[in-house]
Amino acid sequence: MTVFSSRAFDKHEQVVFCSDPDTGLRAIIAVHSTALGPAVGGCRFWDYLSAHAHAPADVAEARADEDAIFDVLRLSRGMSYKNAMAGLRLGGGKAVIMGDPAELASPALFHAFGRHIQRLSGTYLTAEDVGTSPAFMTEIAKTTDYVTGLEDGEFATGDPSPQTAIGVFHGIKAAVGYKLGRSDLAGVRVAIQGVGHVGGGVARHLHDAGATLIVADVNQRNIERLTADVPAEVVSPQAIHTVDAEVFAPCALGGGINDRTIPQIKAQVIAGAANNQLENERVHGEALRRRGILYAPDYVINAGGIISVETEALKEPLDEAARHAKVTNIANTLREVFQKADAEDRPTGLVANEIAERRIADARQSRLEAAE
Ligand code: NAD
Repeated sequence: MTVFSSRAFDKHEQVVFCSDPDTGLRAIIAVHSTALGPAVGGCRFWDYLSAHAHAPADVAEARADEDAIFDVLRLSRGMSYKNAMAGLRLGGGKAVIMGDPAELASPALFHAFGRHIQRLSGTYLTAEDVGTSPAFMTEIAKTTDYVTGLEDGEFATGDPSPQTAIGVFHGIKAAVGYKLGRSDLAGVRVAIQGVGHVGGGVARHLHDAGATLIVADVNQRNIERLTADVPAEVVSPQAIHTVDAEVFAPCALGGGINDRTIPQIKAQVIAGAANNQLENERVHGEALRRRGILYAPDYVINAGGIISVETEALKEPLDEAARHAKVTNIANTLREVFQKADAEDRPTGLVANEIAERRIADARQSRLEAAE
């Protein structure tokens, strides 16, 4: 099993393995960087064994461990980049709890996990992610002070999805302005893949701005909820990326931009909320650039949610105006990335990574100098 030699290790400050035999808790907390502030990133609850069901038990367990380590390191570094690009006073971290939440989740397990977070004294703060829920966060918060995205409490900021939707809307506007030279969205056709918490909000903002919507979702109820008051053409989930539209907005799951789908995309702009949209960041970022499709790097455009919880993480009262300014500033950050990528003839995602790495390195350097 590898940690230091993992491809995703990349200067992580701290990796903590947590267990609690009484509750079956096995978790990993990764702190990539605290150069810009305390590390904040969600907690994923995932059954890593399920991908190795056909292997002998000992082999399956070893592989599941490796997958979990790789996942937590990759995601934790991603949070450092995301928080840096959003201009937050937060570093990057992530946690994974290993196992099937349907079998393992219990108040006692979350309390044990919270005690492990508490021992880190605020170096890492957790939040909701795939497999965890607001109710789980409430349990974790019973044994640690370091949880964000709570509904109640002195600094609670609640559901971050509406802020994510606002940020994605402004990001789409910036991308359309940059690529198509349009200062407004009137009549611009936007294809939205997934109209859940974020995609539904994005659709409403776009409609208010005069855009024409084409939508798809595997969940018919979410389609009905949206189209009850927002006009939209509904197409099948298999076809949404192929429709005739100026913008394709992936707001469902990751990995949707790949070898199969890229040749079928007619949109000139890809800008949406989903995490990890490119199946392979390097290969598919380059493929989009070659096709002349402008890609808004996912972690830059979808940062509204983490921006929303910044004050909660820092135990400060929420300043709505400052939060709104940071969320709308996503548009400026994207323009900076687009211009640099064009000037250097490079994929937008790689350019964004470099800007983030530079910001983190500069902050680390300033800290070192201040400590001397
Ligand atoms: P959600 O579960 O509320 O919405 C996702 C929607 O996509 C659902 O309606 C689901 O039915 C639909 N969907 C799933 N597979 C689909 C497919 N193949 N084709 C079409 N629709 C499909 O989740 P959300 O909170 O809206 O998040 C959406 C995406 O944005 C996720 O990738 C998430 O990681 C990312 N994101 C969310 C936030 C946030 O604040 N919620 C912040 C940053 C990133």
